[in-house]
Amino acid sequence: MSRLSRRILPALAALAMGVVANHSSAQTFPTRPITVIVPFAAGGPTDTVARLVAEQMGRDLGQAVVVENVGGAGGTLGAQRTASARPDGHTLLIHHIGMSTIPTLYRRLSYDPVNGFEPVGLITEVPMTIIGKRNLAANNLQELVTLVRRERQGINLANAGVGAASHLCGLLFQSALNVQLTTVPYRGTGPAMNDLVGGTVDLMCDQTTNTTEQIRAGTVRAYAVTTPTRLGSLPDLPTANEAGMPGFEISIWHGLYAPRGTSPEIVARLSTALQAALRDPGLTRRFQDLGTEPVAQERATPDAHRTFWQADVARWRPIIQAAGQFAD
Ligand code: ASP
Repeated sequence: MSRLSRRILPALAALAMGVVANHSSAQTFPTRPITVIVPFAAGGPTDTVARLVAEQMGRDLGQAVVVENVGGAGGTLGAQRTASARPDGHTLLIHHIGMSTIPTLYRRLSYDPVNGFEPVGLITEVPMTIIGKRNLAANNLQELVTLVRRERQGINLANAGVGAASHLCGLLFQSALNVQLTTVPYRGTGPAMNDLVGGTVDLMCDQTTNTTEQIRAGTVRAYAVTTPTRLGSLPDLPTANEAGMPGFEISIWHGLYAPRGTSPEIVARLSTALQAALRDPGLTRRFQDLGTEPVAQERATPDAHRTFWQADVARWRPIIQAAGQFAD
């Protein structure tokens, strides 16, 4: 054997083994339980969606899919943890519209908020509701508008940090009324809801996946939903439009992501499992009861979600730049 072949042949063999190993890892994936990082505290809306989806995906994948809450910094801590995880499909992220706003809101991050991920698919679009503590001195949205205009910084508005859905909705609310309230950040709107129910904060704007049951139980006051029409799940709740804030509309979406560099085969397998989860009748019923629905199958794919997400990043950029409100 020539000196050249002695050097080249082992290298080619190693390369071939690598190809086989990668190939078989895509075919045998998953080889162990999968972790889905939720970048907010347990008990909130992202957590609720993630736990329902994770359970069903686990059935399809034949491995447990375990939710890990990594809350803080408006969802950027959990996203950063995912972006730097091994890209082997065993660490994933379920995030929300923050994936579109954070690239503009945060000018310095220790991860790439767009190129650090492989989108797997869209999960759902969720309405927001404006809610207050039970004894807030406002019986409807008109009275709430009068109250916040009068009290301004005397009103505490809970959110899940800069870039969170509650933060965006709160910003829209304040700018629509041209007031500045006192914002109180939490690691997620799960714990924020506890304080709202306990009466230590006054107001919050949050997804129906977190607010529906509290609204029905009467533990919080509900003022409006941010959709163009009323929800079947909360038929008595007026839209912001009809209750006195015309044009106040916002809906939040959730998507599933893998770290950048995850193989297309593994991303495709995850997308198939996501689609299977979204077809599950029990999951659909639970989503509907919480005021939302799984997206159509063709939107729960990597390509469709990449296109949607890129367009959404571009949609939010000028809005945030015009508002001049950055996280740093
Ligand atoms: N709904 C929260 C938000 O404001 C996050 C969460 O706790 O899921 O973005």
